[in-house]
Amino acid sequence: MTFPRSWAAAAVLAAGTLATLPTALRAQEAAPPQILFTNVNIFDGYASTLQEGMSVLVEGNLIKTISSGAIEAPGAKVIDGSGRTLMPGLIDLHSHLLASGDQGLVDIEANLTWEDLALRMAGMARLWLAEGFTTVRDMGGACGGLRRQIDQGIIDGPRVYPSCAWIGPPGGHSDMRNYTMPQTPGVSQVERLGITANVNGAEDVTAAARQNFMQGATQLKIMQTGGVASLFDPWQLNGLNEDEIAAAVAIADNYGSYVGAHSYTKDAMLRALQMGVKTIEHGFMFDGDVAALMEEKGAYLVTQMTSMAPGLAEIGALQDPRTAYKLQTAQAAFRDYVEHVRAFTPKFGFMIDCVGSPENCEKQIAYEKWLHAEFFGNHHMLKAATGTAGEVLALSGDVMNPYVEGPIGVIQEGAYADILLVDGDPLEDISVIGAVDTWFDAPDRDGVETIRIIMKDGVIYKNTLD
Ligand SMILES: [Zn+2]
Repeated sequence: MTFPRSWAAAAVLAAGTLATLPTALRAQEAAPPQILFTNVNIFDGYASTLQEGMSVLVEGNLIKTISSGAIEAPGAKVIDGSGRTLMPGLIDLHSHLLASGDQGLVDIEANLTWEDLALRMAGMARLWLAEGFTTVRDMGGACGGLRRQIDQGIIDGPRVYPSCAWIGPPGGHSDMRNYTMPQTPGVSQVERLGITANVNGAEDVTAAARQNFMQGATQLKIMQTGGVASLFDPWQLNGLNEDEIAAAVAIADNYGSYVGAHSYTKDAMLRALQMGVKTIEHGFMFDGDVAALMEEKGAYLVTQMTSMAPGLAEIGALQDPRTAYKLQTAQAAFRDYVEHVRAFTPKFGFMIDCVGSPENCEKQIAYEKWLHAEFFGNHHMLKAATGTAGEVLALSGDVMNPYVEGPIGVIQEGAYADILLVDGDPLEDISVIGAVDTWFDAPDRDGVETIRIIMKDGVIYKNTLD
């Protein structure tokens, strides 16, 4: 991954990366800076049509006024949108910015030190922002440190809702030991670094959950079933017992937050939902029964569509013969997924879930944007990555949610000024937000050319209109 060229200009415009510092400084200023977008068509995060010919006034880090008429703002910097689309910054509900091994998860234990991991994570944060993501919910690995460094302006990146350590059973999807390591806490690097927590019993879950919240988690992530890109765990494994899930939900409740569960099978999803889990991650065997329980419980389905891609077997993390075999059986079992989502219409959030190198993640991001729209339509993709995703972020509650001045993922008065200005209409042409219809063959790129402005928290990080 290379640093986007346009980024350099953006950083200057934003008075250097330290421009993200000012939440505290800004409060001391008499009048917060204003930026007025004129002549824009708005995608608000939900509607299936654009509001045309609008003006949007940003004051400080929030959207102050939206109007179809002129807005009086004499001191504002004016940006003429010339009929471009103004939309919410994208939200990736399931990133792993710390989990960027060239060969996936095994690299993280065996081949990368904390320095490698931290520096790669900084690059990943910058990549996601360059791709138009102004917020990520990090579902395992990254913790409060990443958010602090971004919010303090030390590195550029999206807002981060971290889950901290994955909580899962030994031998499960988040166990990154090798066969020779005993089951002693701290033997594995990823446990020592707080990236994963191997738990046996409800007491262990309680301890890990409390540690995560202490370290800055905004929600918990549990590994309920096995996965594909890992060595020991059958993907069919229903790995956490009811009392273990209940322990995670109880601690999350204490903090006014919630639990998301990595869950593939129908049994696992039903168990998780019954125990109070609010987001089902992946959920590939989703069906009408799961949909009904989700609706009753106010839960969300969050899924990456690259799992349904024909070229999936080519990714680095799946080259071990053991994972290749798991993939075959999984793909056969998951074949009704797309049809079931179309039929039962769950509240659906967008995710990338890349655990590869930054180079590969850049391509996966582009392809995921396209593939989601290909399966469910452009409007579904946009809503899943903005309005609906913002609802999921809000599940973190008022206490643990670090961003409570306004909603995220929508263009409305009082919302955070997390804004993209893009050429064209993404409801008609999803490529304008950087969607690409090929995966591994996609060209390398420096950000997305048609995303002309990226604003997060009222600060412009990219502007190719000037
Ligand atoms: Zn994941």
